[in-house]
Amino acid sequence: MPTVTVRIPTPLRSFADGSSELPVEGPTVGALVERLAEEHPGLRRHLFNPDGRLRSFVTVYLNDEDVRYLEKDATPVKDGDILSIVPAIAGGAPAARGAPNRAPIQITEKAPTFSSDELRRYSRHLLLPEVGVAGQKRLRDAKVLIVGAGGLGAPTSLYLAAAGIGEIGLVDFDAVDVSNLQRQVLYTTADVGRPKLEAAKARLEALNPGTRVVLHSERLSSANALEILRPYDVVIDGTDNFPTRYLVNDACVLLGKPNVYGSIYRFEGQVSVFDSERGPCYRCLYPEPPPPDLVPSCAEAGVLGVLPGLVGVLQATEAIKVLLGLGEPLIGRLLLYDALSLRFRELRLRKNPQCVLCSPHATQKGLIDYLAFCGVPGSPAAESTAGVPEVTPESLHAELAAPDAPMLVDVREPEEWAISRIEGAVLIPKGQLADRVDELTRARSLVLYCRSGRRSADAAKLLIDLGFRHVRNLKGGINAWSEKVDPTIVRY
Ligand SMILES: [Zn+2]
Repeated sequence: MPTVTVRIPTPLRSFADGSSELPVEGPTVGALVERLAEEHPGLRRHLFNPDGRLRSFVTVYLNDEDVRYLEKDATPVKDGDILSIVPAIAGGAPAARGAPNRAPIQITEKAPTFSSDELRRYSRHLLLPEVGVAGQKRLRDAKVLIVGAGGLGAPTSLYLAAAGIGEIGLVDFDAVDVSNLQRQVLYTTADVGRPKLEAAKARLEALNPGTRVVLHSERLSSANALEILRPYDVVIDGTDNFPTRYLVNDACVLLGKPNVYGSIYRFEGQVSVFDSERGPCYRCLYPEPPPPDLVPSCAEAGVLGVLPGLVGVLQATEAIKVLLGLGEPLIGRLLLYDALSLRFRELRLRKNPQCVLCSPHATQKGLIDYLAFCGVPGSPAAESTAGVPEVTPESLHAELAAPDAPMLVDVREPEEWAISRIEGAVLIPKGQLADRVDELTRARSLVLYCRSGRRSADAAKLLIDLGFRHVRNLKGGINAWSEKVDPTIVRY
């Protein structure tokens, strides 16, 4: 029986005893994955649908080939093969590998002359025969939209402004928070509390007054995406959530724009260029998003501060290459970066001949409701936690002071518990709750909390499904508790 090394991605390692690689024996891909789920039962629900099929947001690669384009589950393996499980992270004819970037995108030409200041500013570009005056002019005539002015948007916007991109559009609606500064190098401590876009514009224009910074201070939505994206030559996906990621992808495919994709998770990053006219789109890679409760956000999972720096710089590099028609863009390739082992790996991506969006059989001709598609709480398709009773921080505060106070259960991770906690609570991380229900008294009133109230709503639903009758969720989580009841508790 062949022994294959199975690479476990970071989000799933906690279900595999923390291992990043496991030797698994089996004759085929299907048998290996089944064996893996047998040995590590916690992985099963992440890998398989309830009906036993591999989930569509999990792609499996044998060496660097997607098994969907080999013999799927029946693909035979041999000793020494490497099987990679590549889940989505908050991330026709196949493009030939190493296809040269011969078709620079059309950019509207403007006046050709550079001032002497510009010639000096861009001299290190002008000295490169591959860029030169003509290339620099293309950059000056180009318009790049960056969706999200956060961890990825910070380095991409800085480098693209420095490189002399004529117009940079930014989409964001947040204010700078002190917890952003660990990675969002576009902002300074003095910017805390300011709208991100206002601070970003000042910083980018200070760096390069020749770059126009156009602000779109709103949430990208199905109603505005096509209109916002249309004037731009290249779109950079610097988002941190699946609904916006699918929205950016779909709008780019519908408008025929290249989408420079980057995503980050703890110590791992993914980068690719989705250009549906020359290769696959994001939906070819992940036809469906993972359910929200399987994927923690950066706010919940943490991220190494320099990670988005590196991924964002790769995205800026690809954007410039696409604009200049230089080198080999990451079209049809997914670059995986693991900061802990400092390894880059590359997987081949193919255009899904059945892609609902970019294949000849496309059934989707417009934008859809992405919150519902991604099952985000509050959207019509995700009422799974609807009906979980809630308690406000103020009422809970009063109840805790009275006799028969409810038991408080903190369902966050130990790292979060170390930052803040409500006195008297017990810590049972959400992932362990099903195995530790014996520690809870069914007759007693229980209040669950997490950071924002989302995970604890899922956890409360789980307990209700297990027959607990007196379960409530703390509305807004410990951050709301800090805001309304006890400001000495750190918000994060
Ligand atoms: Zn596609």
